Amino acid sequence: MYKGFICPVCRTGKLNVTFNIHEIPYFGEIMESVALCSGCHYRHTDVISLQEKAPVKYILKVEREEDLNIRVVRSSQCKVEIPELGAEITPGAAADGFISNVEGILNRVEDAVMTSIIPDTRQTRPANGDLGDLSDLSPARRLKGRKKLTSKEQQAARILDKIRRIKEGKEKITLILDDPSGNSAIISDRAEKVEGRRREDEI
Ligand SMILES: [Zn+2]
Repeated sequence: MYKGFICPVCRTGKLNVTFNIHEIPYFGEIMESVALCSGCHYRHTDVISLQEKAPVKYILKVEREEDLNIRVVRSSQCKVEIPELGAEITPGAAADGFISNVEGILNRVEDAVMTSIIPDTRQTRPANGDLGDLSDLSPARRLKGRKKLTSKEQQAARILDKIRRIKEGKEKITLILDDPSGNSAIISDRAEKVEGRRREDEI
């Protein structure tokens, strides 16, 4: 564990950084880093390949329930797109890198959709703030259970419904990973891989 970095968010807490090396079949060794601030609980994760990689793009048709288990490595440099959902996970300094699977990606999209409508939920919440016990309902059903939805909430409910259908294998989507650092991958024979050229080849 590495200590002593100052947290970029609260600028007072110390960051504890741990590194783990994973062996990913057909991809190689990956180092996963987790940084955690002891002060404000800011958390950042990333993955980096221990081999040199060329820029890469993966395209996977998610067609059946078992496709949800396909492993996905996403670095913080990677753009993730699911055109059918209008969803995009953008790269950058604040983006997390992670080792997950297709279902994990869908869960992240689900979380992002829920987060995007939180202000609307607050506006329509009764004065006493009581929304009842909703903890056992899925996000889509939670929205449907409410009487009046804003248009943003209706759109969110549609996306959440679609995600549920994908998870049940009833709807197909395309998962696209585009990573100029080459540190990302979809580990499946069915994923189409488009490898970019290294910069030095272009000279
Ligand atoms: Zn902090």
